[in-house]
Amino acid sequence: MTQQTMHIGLDDTDSTKGGCTTYLAAVLIEKLAKFNVNFADYPTLIRLNPNVPWKTRGNGALCLRFTYSEEFEDDIKSTAMDLWETQSAVKEKGTDPGIVIYKNQEISAELRAFSKKTETAIVTLKEATALIKKLGAEAAGFNSCRGIIGALAAIGETLDFDHTFELIAYRTPENLGTKRRVDEGSIFEMDKQTQPFTFNNVDVEKGRVIITPRGPDPILFGIRGESAEIVKKAYGLVKPLESVERWVIFRSNQGTDAHLTPAQSLGSLEPYSSVIAKGTVSKNPRVVPLRHVIFSIKDETAEVDCAAYEPTGDLRKIARELIVGDEIEVYGAVHKATANKPVTINLEKISIKSLAKKTVSENPLCPNCNKRLKSMGKNQGLRCEKCGSKYSELKKTESVMPRALKVGLYVTSTRSQRHLTKPLRRYGLEKACREHEPMIDGWHSSFS
Ligand SMILES: [Zn+2]
Repeated sequence: MTQQTMHIGLDDTDSTKGGCTTYLAAVLIEKLAKFNVNFADYPTLIRLNPNVPWKTRGNGALCLRFTYSEEFEDDIKSTAMDLWETQSAVKEKGTDPGIVIYKNQEISAELRAFSKKTETAIVTLKEATALIKKLGAEAAGFNSCRGIIGALAAIGETLDFDHTFELIAYRTPENLGTKRRVDEGSIFEMDKQTQPFTFNNVDVEKGRVIITPRGPDPILFGIRGESAEIVKKAYGLVKPLESVERWVIFRSNQGTDAHLTPAQSLGSLEPYSSVIAKGTVSKNPRVVPLRHVIFSIKDETAEVDCAAYEPTGDLRKIARELIVGDEIEVYGAVHKATANKPVTINLEKISIKSLAKKTVSENPLCPNCNKRLKSMGKNQGLRCEKCGSKYSELKKTESVMPRALKVGLYVTSTRSQRHLTKPLRRYGLEKACREHEPMIDGWHSSFS
Protein backbone atom coordinates (compact mmCIF):
# COMPACT_ATOMS: atom_id res chain seq x y z
CA MET A 1 0.00 0.00 0.00
CA THR A 2 1.23 3.51 -0.75
CA GLN A 3 2.26 5.69 2.13
CA GLN A 4 0.65 9.10 2.44
CA THR A 5 1.49 12.04 4.65
CA MET A 6 -1.07 13.65 6.90
CA HIS A 7 -0.93 16.71 9.14
CA ILE A 8 -3.60 17.17 11.82
CA GLY A 9 -3.82 20.65 13.36
CA LEU A 10 -5.77 21.29 16.56
CA ASP A 11 -6.51 24.48 18.44
CA ASP A 12 -8.49 25.97 21.27
CA THR A 13 -10.11 22.83 22.56
CA ASP A 14 -9.30 23.83 26.13
CA SER A 15 -11.36 26.09 28.31
CA THR A 16 -11.16 27.82 31.65
CA LYS A 17 -12.79 24.80 33.33
CA GLY A 18 -10.24 22.20 32.33
CA GLY A 19 -9.20 20.26 29.29
CA CYS A 20 -6.13 21.02 27.28
CA THR A 21 -5.31 20.77 23.59
CA THR A 22 -1.96 19.12 24.32
CA TYR A 23 -3.79 16.38 26.20
CA LEU A 24 -6.09 15.79 23.24
CA ALA A 25 -2.98 15.42 21.06
CA ALA A 26 -1.39 13.04 23.57
CA VAL A 27 -4.45 10.78 23.55
CA LEU A 28 -4.69 10.94 19.76
CA ILE A 29 -1.04 9.87 19.39
CA GLU A 30 -1.84 6.70 21.24
CA LYS A 31 -5.05 6.02 19.30
CA LEU A 32 -3.20 6.44 15.99
CA ALA A 33 -0.75 3.71 16.97
CA LYS A 34 -3.24 1.01 16.05
CA PHE A 35 -3.19 2.24 12.44
CA ASN A 36 0.60 1.78 12.32
CA VAL A 37 1.28 5.41 11.54
CA ASN A 38 4.90 6.61 11.44
CA PHE A 39 5.38 9.98 13.05
CA ALA A 40 7.47 12.27 10.84
CA ASP A 41 8.16 14.64 13.72
CA TYR A 42 7.44 15.09 17.38
CA PRO A 43 3.99 16.56 17.91
CA THR A 44 4.49 20.31 17.67
CA LEU A 45 3.16 22.81 20.20
CA ILE A 46 2.92 26.26 18.66
CA ARG A 47 2.26 29.34 20.73
CA LEU A 48 0.49 32.04 18.73
CA ASN A 49 0.57 35.82 19.08
CA PRO A 50 0.09 36.33 22.83
CA ASN A 51 -1.30 39.78 22.15
CA VAL A 52 -4.56 38.82 20.41
CA PRO A 53 -7.61 40.06 22.28
CA TRP A 54 -9.54 36.76 22.18
CA LYS A 55 -6.93 34.20 23.24
CA THR A 56 -7.65 31.37 25.64
CA ARG A 57 -5.22 30.74 28.43
CA GLY A 58 -2.08 29.71 26.63
CA ASN A 59 -2.98 30.31 23.00
CA GLY A 60 -1.25 27.11 21.94
CA ALA A 61 -2.00 25.04 18.84
CA LEU A 62 -0.90 21.48 18.06
CA CYS A 63 0.10 19.54 14.99
CA LEU A 64 0.67 15.82 14.44
CA ARG A 65 2.54 14.79 11.26
CA PHE A 66 2.77 11.20 10.15
CA THR A 67 2.78 8.82 7.25
CA TYR A 68 0.16 6.09 7.01
CA SER A 69 -1.02 3.53 4.57
CA GLU A 70 -4.00 4.59 2.50
CA GLU A 71 -6.30 1.80 3.63
CA PHE A 72 -6.50 3.41 7.08
CA GLU A 73 -7.21 6.95 5.92
CA ASP A 74 -10.92 7.00 6.75
CA ASP A 75 -10.36 5.35 10.12
CA ILE A 76 -7.63 7.83 11.01
CA LYS A 77 -9.80 10.79 10.09
CA SER A 78 -12.83 9.57 11.98
CA THR A 79 -10.73 8.70 15.03
CA ALA A 80 -9.30 12.21 15.09
CA MET A 81 -12.69 13.86 14.50
CA ASP A 82 -14.47 11.75 17.14
CA LEU A 83 -11.85 12.45 19.76
CA TRP A 84 -11.79 16.15 18.93
CA GLU A 85 -15.58 16.37 19.20
CA THR A 86 -15.82 14.54 22.50
CA GLN A 87 -12.81 16.23 24.14
CA SER A 88 -13.47 19.79 23.03
CA ALA A 89 -15.18 22.11 25.45
CA VAL A 90 -17.69 23.03 22.76
CA LYS A 91 -20.47 24.15 25.07
CA GLU A 92 -18.40 26.81 26.76
CA LYS A 93 -18.40 30.44 25.84
CA GLY A 94 -15.04 31.69 24.69
CA THR A 95 -13.95 28.30 23.42
CA ASP A 96 -13.80 28.01 19.67
CA PRO A 97 -12.27 24.65 18.84
CA GLY A 98 -10.87 23.99 15.41
CA ILE A 99 -9.35 21.04 13.57
CA VAL A 100 -7.65 20.99 10.17
CA ILE A 101 -6.62 17.86 8.30
CA TYR A 102 -4.13 18.30 5.48
CA LYS A 103 -2.72 15.62 3.20
CA ASN A 104 0.45 16.71 1.48
CA GLN A 105 4.10 16.03 1.99
CA GLU A 106 5.08 19.63 1.31
CA ILE A 107 4.25 22.69 3.35
CA SER A 108 4.07 25.61 0.91
CA ALA A 109 5.76 28.97 1.41
CA GLU A 110 2.33 30.58 1.55
CA LEU A 111 1.23 28.34 4.43
CA ARG A 112 4.48 28.99 6.29
CA ALA A 113 3.96 32.74 5.89
CA PHE A 114 0.40 32.38 7.21
CA SER A 115 1.76 30.64 10.32
CA LYS A 116 4.36 33.32 10.91
CA LYS A 117 1.62 35.92 10.78
CA THR A 118 -0.45 34.13 13.44
CA GLU A 119 2.58 34.27 15.75
CA THR A 120 3.21 37.98 15.29
CA ALA A 121 0.02 39.73 14.22
CA ILE A 122 -3.73 39.39 13.78
CA VAL A 123 -5.15 36.89 11.30
CA THR A 124 -8.81 36.64 10.33
CA LEU A 125 -10.86 33.49 9.97
CA LYS A 126 -11.56 34.55 6.40
CA GLU A 127 -7.85 34.43 5.56
CA ALA A 128 -7.62 30.97 7.10
CA THR A 129 -10.62 29.52 5.31
CA ALA A 130 -9.51 30.96 1.97
CA LEU A 131 -6.13 29.27 2.37
CA ILE A 132 -7.71 25.99 3.48
CA LYS A 133 -9.83 26.01 0.35
CA LYS A 134 -6.83 26.76 -1.85
CA LEU A 135 -4.80 23.96 -0.26
CA GLY A 136 -7.65 21.47 -0.45
CA ALA A 137 -7.44 20.80 3.29
CA GLU A 138 -10.38 19.80 5.45
CA ALA A 139 -11.48 21.80 8.46
CA ALA A 140 -14.13 21.81 11.14
CA GLY A 141 -14.90 24.19 13.95
CA PHE A 142 -17.36 24.95 16.72
CA ASN A 143 -18.78 28.24 17.99
CA SER A 144 -16.92 31.10 16.25
CA CYS A 145 -14.63 28.51 14.59
CA ARG A 146 -11.63 30.73 15.33
CA GLY A 147 -9.69 27.64 16.40
CA ILE A 148 -9.38 26.81 12.71
CA ILE A 149 -6.86 29.68 12.42
CA GLY A 150 -4.56 28.15 15.04
CA ALA A 151 -5.05 24.61 13.74
CA LEU A 152 -3.92 25.67 10.26
CA ALA A 153 -1.08 27.75 11.71
CA ALA A 154 0.22 24.74 13.63
CA ILE A 155 0.41 22.77 10.38
CA GLY A 156 2.35 25.54 8.62
CA GLU A 157 4.90 26.10 11.40
CA THR A 158 7.56 23.51 10.67
CA LEU A 159 10.03 24.92 13.23
CA ASP A 160 12.98 24.68 10.85
CA PHE A 161 14.94 27.29 12.76
CA ASP A 162 15.12 27.98 16.47
CA HIS A 163 12.90 25.66 18.53
CA THR A 164 12.69 24.02 21.93
CA PHE A 165 11.13 20.93 23.48
CA GLU A 166 8.65 20.35 26.26
CA LEU A 167 7.89 17.10 28.02
CA ILE A 168 4.40 17.27 29.47
CA ALA A 169 3.26 14.77 32.10
CA TYR A 170 -0.49 14.33 32.65
CA ARG A 171 -2.53 13.53 35.73
CA THR A 172 -4.97 10.68 36.17
CA PRO A 173 -8.68 11.66 36.15
CA GLU A 174 -9.25 11.10 39.87
CA ASN A 175 -6.69 13.79 40.73
CA LEU A 176 -8.03 16.50 38.42
CA GLY A 177 -8.84 19.71 40.27
CA THR A 178 -6.78 18.82 43.34
CA LYS A 179 -3.45 20.34 44.36
CA ARG A 180 -0.60 18.91 42.28
CA ARG A 181 1.74 16.68 44.25
CA VAL A 182 5.33 16.72 43.03
CA ASP A 183 8.46 16.67 45.22
CA GLU A 184 9.59 20.31 44.96
CA GLY A 185 13.13 19.53 46.07
CA SER A 186 13.52 17.15 43.15
CA ILE A 187 12.54 19.96 40.75
CA PHE A 188 15.23 22.28 42.13
CA GLU A 189 17.71 19.42 41.88
CA MET A 190 16.63 18.66 38.30
CA ASP A 191 17.13 22.33 37.41
CA LYS A 192 20.61 22.27 38.89
CA GLN A 193 21.60 19.10 37.06
CA THR A 194 20.22 20.03 33.64
CA GLN A 195 20.87 23.77 33.35
CA PRO A 196 21.42 25.59 31.06
CA PHE A 197 19.77 23.03 28.79
CA THR A 198 16.37 23.21 30.50
CA PHE A 199 14.64 26.48 31.35
CA ASN A 200 11.82 28.06 33.34
CA ASN A 201 11.78 25.30 35.94
CA VAL A 202 11.96 27.58 38.94
CA ASP A 203 11.56 31.27 39.71
CA VAL A 204 14.86 32.21 41.30
CA GLU A 205 13.57 35.58 42.57
CA LYS A 206 10.79 34.00 44.60
CA GLY A 207 12.34 30.58 45.17
CA ARG A 208 9.28 28.93 43.63
CA VAL A 209 8.69 25.98 41.34
CA ILE A 210 6.93 26.98 38.12
CA ILE A 211 6.71 23.77 36.06
CA THR A 212 3.44 22.79 37.76
CA PRO A 213 0.49 24.83 36.54
CA ARG A 214 -2.43 25.77 38.74
CA GLY A 215 -6.00 25.25 37.64
CA PRO A 216 -8.13 22.32 36.57
CA ASP A 217 -6.27 21.21 33.43
CA PRO A 218 -4.78 17.70 33.26
CA ILE A 219 -1.12 18.81 33.13
CA LEU A 220 0.88 17.65 36.14
CA PHE A 221 4.04 19.43 35.00
CA GLY A 222 5.93 20.42 31.86
CA ILE A 223 9.71 20.54 31.45
CA ARG A 224 11.12 22.82 28.75
CA GLY A 225 14.55 22.37 27.25
CA GLU A 226 16.89 22.35 24.28
CA SER A 227 16.52 18.74 23.17
CA ALA A 228 14.27 15.72 23.51
CA GLU A 229 17.08 13.92 25.33
CA ILE A 230 17.49 16.56 27.98
CA VAL A 231 13.80 16.92 28.82
CA LYS A 232 13.52 13.15 29.05
CA LYS A 233 16.54 13.02 31.34
CA ALA A 234 15.05 15.84 33.43
CA TYR A 235 11.77 13.93 33.67
CA GLY A 236 13.66 11.06 35.24
CA LEU A 237 14.99 13.40 37.92
CA VAL A 238 11.59 14.78 38.99
CA LYS A 239 9.74 12.79 41.62
CA PRO A 240 5.96 12.94 41.16
CA LEU A 241 4.00 12.12 44.33
CA GLU A 242 0.85 11.19 42.40
CA SER A 243 0.47 8.86 39.44
CA VAL A 244 1.29 10.05 35.93
CA GLU A 245 -1.26 8.93 33.37
CA ARG A 246 0.95 9.58 30.34
CA TRP A 247 3.69 11.88 29.06
CA VAL A 248 4.66 13.22 25.64
CA ILE A 249 7.59 15.22 24.28
CA PHE A 250 6.52 18.14 22.08
CA ARG A 251 8.67 20.26 19.78
CA SER A 252 7.83 23.93 20.16
CA ASN A 253 8.41 27.61 19.43
CA GLN A 254 8.24 28.31 23.16
CA GLY A 255 11.13 30.35 24.50
CA THR A 256 12.23 31.51 21.03
CA ASP A 257 10.86 35.08 20.83
CA ALA A 258 8.94 34.02 17.70
CA HIS A 259 6.28 36.63 18.48
CA LEU A 260 8.65 39.60 18.27
CA THR A 261 9.32 41.62 15.12
CA PRO A 262 11.73 44.53 14.84
CA ALA A 263 9.85 47.80 14.47
CA GLN A 264 10.93 50.24 11.75
CA SER A 265 10.16 53.20 13.99
CA LEU A 266 8.06 54.15 17.00
CA GLY A 267 5.61 55.84 14.64
CA SER A 268 4.89 52.56 12.87
CA LEU A 269 3.92 50.35 15.83
CA GLU A 270 0.93 48.13 15.10
CA PRO A 271 -1.52 47.46 17.94
CA TYR A 272 -1.73 43.74 18.93
CA SER A 273 1.76 43.05 17.66
CA SER A 274 4.84 42.43 19.78
CA VAL A 275 7.93 44.36 18.83
CA ILE A 276 11.58 45.12 19.39
CA ALA A 277 11.80 48.92 19.22
CA LYS A 278 14.66 51.39 19.62
CA GLY A 279 14.33 54.74 21.34
CA THR A 280 15.77 57.28 23.73
CA VAL A 281 14.23 57.70 27.14
CA SER A 282 12.30 60.98 26.94
CA LYS A 283 10.43 61.02 30.25
CA ASN A 284 11.79 59.70 33.51
CA PRO A 285 10.14 56.63 35.04
CA ARG A 286 7.22 57.18 37.37
CA VAL A 287 5.70 54.64 39.71
CA VAL A 288 1.94 54.48 39.23
CA PRO A 289 -0.63 52.71 41.43
CA LEU A 290 -0.18 48.95 41.88
CA ARG A 291 3.58 49.58 41.71
CA HIS A 292 3.79 49.60 37.92
CA VAL A 293 6.61 51.66 36.38
CA ILE A 294 5.92 53.81 33.31
CA PHE A 295 8.44 55.81 31.26
CA SER A 296 8.50 57.24 27.75
CA ILE A 297 10.84 56.74 24.82
CA LYS A 298 11.01 58.59 21.52
CA ASP A 299 12.65 58.61 18.13
CA GLU A 300 12.28 61.02 15.19
CA THR A 301 8.78 59.72 14.45
CA ALA A 302 6.93 59.38 17.77
CA GLU A 303 6.95 59.17 21.54
CA VAL A 304 5.42 56.13 23.25
CA ASP A 305 4.99 54.88 26.81
CA CYS A 306 6.67 51.76 28.12
CA ALA A 307 5.14 49.91 31.06
CA ALA A 308 6.85 47.46 33.39
CA TYR A 309 4.09 45.86 35.41
CA GLU A 310 4.51 44.66 38.95
CA PRO A 311 4.92 40.92 38.14
CA THR A 312 7.85 41.69 35.84
CA GLY A 313 9.92 41.77 39.05
CA ASP A 314 13.53 42.69 38.44
CA LEU A 315 12.65 44.28 35.10
CA ARG A 316 10.56 46.83 36.98
CA LYS A 317 13.52 47.63 39.22
CA ILE A 318 15.69 48.17 36.12
CA ALA A 319 13.03 50.38 34.49
CA ARG A 320 12.88 52.55 37.59
CA GLU A 321 16.58 53.42 37.23
CA LEU A 322 16.37 54.72 33.65
CA ILE A 323 16.76 58.45 33.01
CA VAL A 324 16.14 60.81 30.13
CA GLY A 325 18.80 60.32 27.49
CA ASP A 326 19.38 56.59 27.99
CA GLU A 327 19.39 54.75 24.69
CA ILE A 328 17.50 51.49 24.87
CA GLU A 329 15.75 48.79 22.92
CA VAL A 330 12.45 47.57 24.35
CA TYR A 331 10.75 44.21 23.73
CA GLY A 332 7.04 43.84 24.29
CA ALA A 333 3.40 43.93 23.29
CA VAL A 334 1.96 47.04 21.66
CA HIS A 335 -1.27 48.43 23.08
CA LYS A 336 -3.09 51.08 21.11
CA ALA A 337 -3.59 54.62 22.36
CA THR A 338 -6.70 55.43 24.38
CA ALA A 339 -8.28 58.77 25.33
CA ASN A 340 -5.85 59.29 28.20
CA LYS A 341 -2.92 57.03 27.29
CA PRO A 342 -0.53 57.09 24.34
CA VAL A 343 0.54 53.93 22.54
CA THR A 344 2.08 51.71 25.24
CA ILE A 345 4.56 48.85 25.03
CA ASN A 346 4.13 46.30 27.83
CA LEU A 347 7.71 45.34 28.53
CA GLU A 348 9.12 41.83 28.40
CA LYS A 349 12.75 42.86 28.03
CA ILE A 350 14.91 45.97 28.03
CA SER A 351 18.26 46.09 26.30
CA ILE A 352 20.29 49.06 27.49
CA LYS A 353 22.54 50.34 24.71
CA SER A 354 24.06 53.39 26.34
CA LEU A 355 23.54 55.28 29.57
CA ALA A 356 23.18 59.04 29.84
CA LYS A 357 25.28 60.93 32.34
CA LYS A 358 23.40 61.49 35.56
CA THR A 359 24.38 64.81 37.08
CA VAL A 360 23.25 66.69 40.14
CA SER A 361 23.95 70.33 40.77
CA GLU A 362 24.94 71.16 44.31
CA ASN A 363 26.56 73.94 46.28
CA PRO A 364 30.36 73.86 46.39
CA LEU A 365 32.37 73.07 49.50
CA CYS A 366 33.61 75.88 51.75
CA PRO A 367 37.18 76.75 50.58
CA ASN A 368 37.97 77.39 54.21
CA CYS A 369 36.76 74.24 55.98
CA ASN A 370 35.37 71.88 53.32
CA LYS A 371 31.81 71.94 54.64
CA ARG A 372 29.02 72.00 52.01
CA LEU A 373 27.84 75.64 51.69
CA LYS A 374 24.22 76.67 52.18
CA SER A 375 22.27 79.07 50.03
CA MET A 376 21.12 82.22 51.78
CA GLY A 377 18.21 82.75 49.38
CA LYS A 378 17.78 83.72 45.79
CA ASN A 379 20.77 85.79 44.58
CA GLN A 380 21.96 86.13 48.17
CA GLY A 381 25.15 84.10 47.78
CA LEU A 382 26.32 81.12 49.82
CA ARG A 383 27.22 80.79 53.46
CA CYS A 384 29.19 78.27 55.51
CA GLU A 385 27.30 77.08 58.57
CA LYS A 386 30.49 75.90 60.22
CA CYS A 387 32.87 78.85 59.94
CA GLY A 388 30.41 81.58 59.03
CA SER A 389 32.21 82.67 55.83
CA LYS A 390 30.03 84.14 53.11
CA TYR A 391 30.69 83.86 49.37
CA SER A 392 28.80 85.92 46.83
CA GLU A 393 30.79 84.71 43.82
CA LEU A 394 30.63 80.93 44.17
CA LYS A 395 28.12 79.07 41.97
CA LYS A 396 26.51 75.65 42.13
CA THR A 397 28.64 72.87 40.63
CA GLU A 398 27.55 69.94 38.49
CA SER A 399 28.71 66.55 39.64
CA VAL A 400 28.33 63.22 37.91
CA MET A 401 26.49 60.57 39.89
CA PRO A 402 27.16 56.85 39.51
CA ARG A 403 24.43 54.89 37.68
CA ALA A 404 22.89 51.81 39.24
CA LEU A 405 22.53 50.27 35.76
CA LYS A 406 24.86 48.58 33.32
CA VAL A 407 24.61 48.27 29.55
CA GLY A 408 23.06 44.89 28.75
CA LEU A 409 19.90 42.82 28.38
CA TYR A 410 17.31 42.52 31.13
CA VAL A 411 14.42 40.05 30.99
CA THR A 412 11.13 39.97 32.88
CA SER A 413 11.01 37.63 35.88
CA THR A 414 10.49 33.96 35.07
CA ARG A 415 6.99 33.92 36.56
CA SER A 416 5.76 36.64 34.24
CA GLN A 417 7.45 35.41 31.05
CA ARG A 418 5.17 34.58 28.18
CA HIS A 419 5.39 31.10 26.70
CA LEU A 420 7.21 32.62 23.74
CA THR A 421 9.65 34.83 25.64
CA LYS A 422 13.24 33.70 25.16
CA PRO A 423 14.69 33.45 28.66
CA LEU A 424 18.23 34.63 29.40
CA ARG A 425 19.32 31.03 29.86
CA ARG A 426 18.65 30.30 26.17
CA TYR A 427 20.86 33.08 24.78
CA GLY A 428 23.67 31.41 22.86
CA LEU A 429 21.77 28.10 22.58
CA GLU A 430 19.54 29.08 19.65
CA LYS A 431 19.27 26.59 16.80
CA ALA A 432 19.86 27.71 13.24
CA CYS A 433 18.38 24.57 11.71
CA ARG A 434 17.17 21.05 12.42
CA GLU A 435 20.06 19.01 11.05
CA HIS A 436 21.42 16.11 13.12
CA GLU A 437 18.25 15.86 15.12
CA PRO A 438 16.68 12.45 14.49
CA MET A 439 13.73 11.57 16.74
CA ILE A 440 14.67 9.72 19.88
CA ASP A 441 13.17 6.35 20.74
CA GLY A 442 10.51 6.63 23.39
CA TRP A 443 9.31 10.21 23.02
CA HIS A 444 5.98 9.39 24.62
CA SER A 445 4.87 6.85 27.13
CA SER A 446 3.05 3.91 25.72
CA PHE A 447 0.28 2.16 27.61
CA SER A 448 -1.08 -0.02 24.87
ZN1 LIG B 1 33.65 77.15 56.25
